[in-house]
Amino acid sequence: MNKPKIVILGAGYGGIMTAVRLQKQMGGNEAEVILVNKHNYHYQTTWLHEPAAGTLHHDRTRILIKDVINENKITFVQDTVVEIKHEEQKVILENGELAYDYLVVALGFEPETFGIEGLRENAFSIRSVDSVRKIREHIEYEFASYNNDVEKKPERLTIIVGGAGFTGIEFVGELADRVPELCKEFDIDPKEVRVINVEAAPTVLPGFDPELVEYAQNLLERKGIEFKIGTMIKKCTEEGVILSKDDVEEEIKSNTVVWTGGVRGNSIVENSGFETMRGRIKVEKDLRAPGFENVFVVGDCALLINEENDRPYPPTAQIAIQQAYTCTNNLLKLVRGNEELETFKPEIKGTVASLGEGEAIGTVGTKKLYGSTASMMKKLIDNRYLFLLGGPRLVLKKGKLKLF
Ligand code: FAD
Ligand code: NAD
Repeated sequence: MNKPKIVILGAGYGGIMTAVRLQKQMGGNEAEVILVNKHNYHYQTTWLHEPAAGTLHHDRTRILIKDVINENKITFVQDTVVEIKHEEQKVILENGELAYDYLVVALGFEPETFGIEGLRENAFSIRSVDSVRKIREHIEYEFASYNNDVEKKPERLTIIVGGAGFTGIEFVGELADRVPELCKEFDIDPKEVRVINVEAAPTVLPGFDPELVEYAQNLLERKGIEFKIGTMIKKCTEEGVILSKDDVEEEIKSNTVVWTGGVRGNSIVENSGFETMRGRIKVEKDLRAPGFENVFVVGDCALLINEENDRPYPPTAQIAIQQAYTCTNNLLKLVRGNEELETFKPEIKGTVASLGEGEAIGTVGTKKLYGSTASMMKKLIDNRYLFLLGGPRLVLKKGKLKLF
């Protein structure tokens, strides 16, 4: 008898953890599992603000897929997904196609630009190893060029970060550490450098604990970050950004605009004919796409409503990892002929955001954490993930072992 074929698209948190759980829980002959990913490595998206600023080498964030996958149990296909043809139960790849009996969509996020003119063309985004390496290189190039210009151009040393959600705040936290190093390396007076974080809402980190927000903003301002709150990026041009506050426009010239103003699900999902909201499929309680018996969605491509407030859960790695566990259990139930599937219920353990080396803010349960305690907690969370993925060996190889 042919084994059922499970195809997992994407090796981010949701996809790789589903593959690793399947390889642990599945008997040898139960199913054929194929994991498809663009690169031969998994990267830790939650660390990408660091290599983007240049405070961590990008290799630290990536893990070779073959190092965590048992190739006797899982087949890895390095390719790019182009389209999901759900009526034909197949996936179109750049270099071929794959038929499936069960599909797991785990293709992650893309920047949401809300149609803002010029953002797609002129702004950088923190999305992948490729995208952050480009940001780091670009910033270094601008600093290196500054003293070579006959007429000094302040726009080379002006960095605009659009959006002060968690990604924006974590990124400016790293920049605050990196800028003094860059100034030293390229003989630049730190007073010439501006890092401006623009936020449309009336506060940074809208919706987060106000006391922690105040701590973060004060700390970052002391380290030289400028905030423009209640201010929208209206347009991004080759020269910089046009901002709008209370209907008054302001232009800031900058050669480096990094957009951290929000995310959406991978556009492949909506382009494949699934019903989506901001590229995300509103999943059933068992994580299947509505109307599809054999398609599961995990991570940032899944829209999950919090029944307590009727609002979507923010897309996080924390939820993607937990979904992978439920998705694995449900795939195994189906493969074993059990139609009664598990309901996914996220267990939100807390939120911790870094503010540069040794500094962070967070909530864990009802507790508020600040400074070095919060920073240590963040590193523990990161190490725990590596442990779940690849055991103590992976923690030793890639973990953040210096906790303080
Ligand atoms: P991803 O991690 O985005 O992975 C998607 C995978 O699919 C990637 O490997 C990608 O290469 C692959 N892929 C994409 N398109 C294709 C294609 N066409 N073909 C083949 N492969 C493809 N969340 C937290 O819980 N805690 C945090 O501290 C935290 N920090 C963050 C910090 C930053 C800077 C950012 C940007 C996000 C952070 N998040 C955090 C959010 C978290 O990273 C995401 O929710 C999480 O990455 C989603 O996981 P995923 O598996 O859905 O997708
Ligand atoms: P986000 O949607 O959480 O924040 C985007 C911010 O940009 C918002 O504050 C929004 O008001 C602002 N914004 C939108 N349009 C704007 C405009 N035109 N001008 C100025 N500001 C504008 O997006 P994110 O920060 O990229 O986070 C994405 C997801 O990843 C979230 O679910 C977040 O919780 C998660 N994340 C978590 C962590 C962590 O837990 N440490 C870190 C990073 C990201």
